[in-house]
Amino acid sequence: MVIIRAKQLVTALNMPWRYSDEVAVINDAAVAIRDGVIIDVGTWEEIKRRHPHADIWDFGDYLVTPGLVDPHTHLLFAGSREDELERKLQGESYEEITRKGGGIYKTVKYTKETSDQELLNILQKRIQLATSFGTTTVEVKTGYGLDIDQELRLARILKSVKSPIDVVTTFLVHIPPPAGRENYVKEVLKAIPYAGTTYVDVFCDSIAFNVEETRTILKKAAEAGYKLRLHADELEYIGCSDLVEELPIDSADHLLNTPPENVRKIAKSGT
Ligand SMILES: [Zn+2]
Repeated sequence: MVIIRAKQLVTALNMPWRYSDEVAVINDAAVAIRDGVIIDVGTWEEIKRRHPHADIWDFGDYLVTPGLVDPHTHLLFAGSREDELERKLQGESYEEITRKGGGIYKTVKYTKETSDQELLNILQKRIQLATSFGTTTVEVKTGYGLDIDQELRLARILKSVKSPIDVVTTFLVHIPPPAGRENYVKEVLKAIPYAGTTYVDVFCDSIAFNVEETRTILKKAAEAGYKLRLHADELEYIGCSDLVEELPIDSADHLLNTPPENVRKIAKSGT
């Protein structure tokens, strides 16, 4: 048995809890752990009194918190678009920036021109940075290939990552190519069995895939044994979040334009 002593401890206030964002901050605190399981938390004085024979790991000036779980990232890409933030602040629209060669297509271009090894290095560095901030699990998606061979390449790179923390992999069907979207959906369906990630995710929205296409892709993914995720209702509500009632979708993300009745649907669905 071991006691970890910390300057501050962040912990759940009323366990077991659900749908609660309440946390407690305890100063000069301690956590008691037996066989890898937390069995007690409280002030240092309390814990020391209740478990007098434990080994003590003193983290004097540090904060101790539950590991951070980052469930939605797009970490696998090359190039930077930080200049676009300033341009947007000066009034340029995203459409304008995209027309002048910025936006997502810029990331796609840089990513395509970067070697597998270099992309892997970039990804590992980003995961390392997240780890240093206390992240213990991170989800990472493909999505900046935008043609099937590139997307499968990104999935391969993603699966080869070596990390001290848990990395959950997602094959993201992001944006259809400007021409030949029907054909693209066919290619996606053919490629899905080879992605080899844990999740398949579709960007379902007015500028991306419609509900019908999304349903087809996710059904195929479920049949092939993938877990499902969804980018839904981000720019516009076109019915995407309704899919939680039909399909076993673990997570529906973004949801900036989800109508209130669909929030209730999502809550009921187990998504
Ligand atoms: Zn996203």
